[in-house]
Amino acid sequence: MANLREANARLAGVEPYDPKYLPAQVMVSANETTVDAPDEVRRAVAARVGQMPFNRYPDPLANDLRDAIALWHGVSRENVICGNGGDELLFDLAYAWGGEGNALLNVPPTFSVYAANAHLTGTKVVEVPRRADFSLDEEAIVERAGRGDVGMVVITSPNNPTGDIAPLGFVERLLNATDALVLLDEAYIEFADEGASSLPLFAAHENLAILHTFSKAYRLAGVRMGYLLAHERVVCELTKVRQPYSVDAVSQAIALEVVKHREAFEEGIARTRAERDRLAQALAALPSTDVHPSQANFLCVRFEADAGALWEGLYERGILVRDFSANPATRNCLRISVGTPEENDAVIAALESLLS
Ligand code: PMP
Repeated sequence: MANLREANARLAGVEPYDPKYLPAQVMVSANETTVDAPDEVRRAVAARVGQMPFNRYPDPLANDLRDAIALWHGVSRENVICGNGGDELLFDLAYAWGGEGNALLNVPPTFSVYAANAHLTGTKVVEVPRRADFSLDEEAIVERAGRGDVGMVVITSPNNPTGDIAPLGFVERLLNATDALVLLDEAYIEFADEGASSLPLFAAHENLAILHTFSKAYRLAGVRMGYLLAHERVVCELTKVRQPYSVDAVSQAIALEVVKHREAFEEGIARTRAERDRLAQALAALPSTDVHPSQANFLCVRFEADAGALWEGLYERGILVRDFSANPATRNCLRISVGTPEENDAVIAALESLLS
């Protein structure tokens, strides 16, 4: 006898998020930094974790880490909340500022998790798509957000998978046009030109929330730590939604050491930016490729050739990239994370041979 009833009806037809993880020699598909954290940080972490009691629950809100992040960004502890990766905070936000009767304003093509979370929380999704050149339709976004039925707007800057920055003048107009929570997802902001972050707008706008992560420039994708800078009312609502101990003691300790040693990451960030520009130039010189300008640690490259076949050809050569060609807005686009100079050379050589 079948004696298990159906799960929540919203799960019917939902495909689990698939990061398309496949082992490869050159892993340039998940926008990680492909070099591990600096030795001095790993040593400091080992010493700290070696002293740590494993039998006790962690500080639920990670207050030491909140304080360190607050000091770093010039805000108060009450304006910071940490999560098990930015992903956890994105879900918590979808729950707190979404739900039945609420809408998310989404700006595709962008990170697929926003729409997935909206679906799971019964939030309607309204879309103002990016233009064919991936630029924001600023007027349409401001107008739509201002109509009053939107609970949250998410703007990704730099955008994943396209690498575009949202101009601050636009962000400010958007903040002034709506009482919706405006989430600036700045997961890749450390790779962007100076002045790209919306942080200077933070003090004057209680509806601005800024998401950052340790997964990209701070090389902790395996550790899972992200944080949100937001008005204390937002932080307070999120503390009602979050899992009490989602941020474990080891991750808290590691992230604290990273904040303390954050200057040690600057050289790597500069190297990634320089390699991004070198990779972009080299790929643009290949036949029939269109390399979209990027402020992140990845490039969105459109090919005249079939991107699915190119993905296969790269994988056969030991290189894993991400294929975005299933989405009509990013037809024949591959997203290629910036790796080490050797990894980037391997990508260039492989594409050269595949396209010739
Ligand atoms: N936002 C964007 C735009 C991302 O690309 C990612 C990672 N793919 C995240 C948030 C979440 O990152 P994490 O959970 O590793 O902090």
